[in-house]
Amino acid sequence: MFTNLPKDPQIFMAWSWPHLQPFADDLEKRPVTSDTVAEWLADWSDLSRLVSEMFARLRVATSVNTVDAAAKQRFSQFLDEVFTPAQAVSQQLKQKLLASGLHPAGFEVPLRNMRVEAEIFRQANLPLLAEEKKLANEYDEIVGAQTIEWDGQEVTTTQLEPVYRSPDRSRRERAWRLVMERKLADRQRLNELWGRLMQVRGQIASNAGFTNYRAYRWKELLRLDYTPADCQRFHQAIEQVVVPAARRMYTRRQQQLGLTTLRPWDLNVDPLGRQALKPYQTLDELMDKVSAIFYKVDAVLGGYFDTMRQQGLLDLENRKDKAPGAYCADYNMVRLPFVFENAVGLNDDVSTLIHESGHAFHVFETARLPYFHQLSVGMEIAEVASMAMELLASPFLLASEGGFYSPSDAARARIEHLEDTVLFWPYMVVVDAFQHWAYENHAAACEPANCDRKWAELWQRYMLGVDWGGLDELMVTGWQRKLHIFEDPFYYVEYGLASLGAFQVWANAMKDRAAAVAAYRQALALGGTAPLPQLYATAGAKFSFEAETLQAAVSLAENMIAQLEKIK
Ligand SMILES: [Zn+2]
Repeated sequence: MFTNLPKDPQIFMAWSWPHLQPFADDLEKRPVTSDTVAEWLADWSDLSRLVSEMFARLRVATSVNTVDAAAKQRFSQFLDEVFTPAQAVSQQLKQKLLASGLHPAGFEVPLRNMRVEAEIFRQANLPLLAEEKKLANEYDEIVGAQTIEWDGQEVTTTQLEPVYRSPDRSRRERAWRLVMERKLADRQRLNELWGRLMQVRGQIASNAGFTNYRAYRWKELLRLDYTPADCQRFHQAIEQVVVPAARRMYTRRQQQLGLTTLRPWDLNVDPLGRQALKPYQTLDELMDKVSAIFYKVDAVLGGYFDTMRQQGLLDLENRKDKAPGAYCADYNMVRLPFVFENAVGLNDDVSTLIHESGHAFHVFETARLPYFHQLSVGMEIAEVASMAMELLASPFLLASEGGFYSPSDAARARIEHLEDTVLFWPYMVVVDAFQHWAYENHAAACEPANCDRKWAELWQRYMLGVDWGGLDELMVTGWQRKLHIFEDPFYYVEYGLASLGAFQVWANAMKDRAAAVAAYRQALALGGTAPLPQLYATAGAKFSFEAETLQAAVSLAENMIAQLEKIK
């Protein structure tokens, strides 16, 4: 047993590789047999937890203050001097475990993952994978440099997003067109970058012995519980069930706005012309009310949230020099989460906090798992933890339940959330189906004109209800505006699958909340020790690609929206 390995971040955050190497050497040397494997895994886990927590804490430090040069320097030094050697050691130890032929209890899924990682690993791919990362950075650079002039000022395209909510339609349209035209100006550069990405990805797949990149990427993403054909079935189910529902939602929006045709710049404005929701005034109020909501969902979850608050594990307010976005980090050694967001007083800040807290509850629930490798979970279930929490919490947004809103404001927030969730599915299909096509038809997809054609075909098939007339050039280049296609291939369908899982958890809660939440917590507590169908089943849901499951979810959403619309 590693009795000398510190468990206290106050101590190990000051450590460097020379402190850690003796522990790594010991793990590499120590014989692994059926008698010793449990202790060996526990020690390996402690070392991994320590390195993982160092990584998380140093990264958090760079995001809570982006101009902290010392934090940046510590993080980059850690990556070079600790993280890289630790990864090499981890690779050795995985091979050692695989070579032992042992099957430790509770380690079936981690072993299955390790076998696949070993199967696709090729030394020759290391420089290509590094090259792929660089190309992804190039995408970031191109998009990050896209600024426009608005009201006499240079602004980023993201900064203009609030204008899409403006009740002044011509102002919305002007902002939307400016942003899209600016993005279109980089068309050639993105076409060229795409060509290089396709080339690298094709080479990676062929080096690893695969006939196409999709087959390789499937294993790289450890998608071992479903196939490309399952995803294609999911696309069909969405076409059959969700596309008509989405069309009904767009039609209702069009009628509420009093328009003869719904244009792309009409999708973010409040359809009844109301001011933005203002759920809270102070951060304390935000945390008090979110805590009260969680206690209504489940007392233990409420307690988890209060623990984060008491221990300084929430950094919520937007301020100068803070990184954008929101995330939940995992401090693996102390077995606690850390939640980061940029709250400015909007409804989005409330839902983001509830979403990220769902991820945080996953960390709390898995604290009892003995081994580090049991903690790694696919996004297909990780996003059930967060998305289901948004739905489970939604009845308690009412001030009378401890939350934020009057009945009509709560109804408005919930309708918006349900509509966004349903409308996401068809768009997700376009993004996913495009990539299935691209990597199954590699040569054709290297030609950007073919990509434009394919995107347009998919758009016209799945995105019904919004009028893109006269915007052809902007429409056909939509694939260039989707970061995931360039930076994280195929990573997207996970959200669609998890959303369907979340709806099922919510449906269960309407019948018996205590039982539904207990099942949800039990599924989270399994971490990554079971295959996805079993994790979903434990949560009381089906890991499903079927129209039937989708139909139940969409009906639930539409019925709830109809009920909520009656509240004035
Ligand atoms: Zn999430």
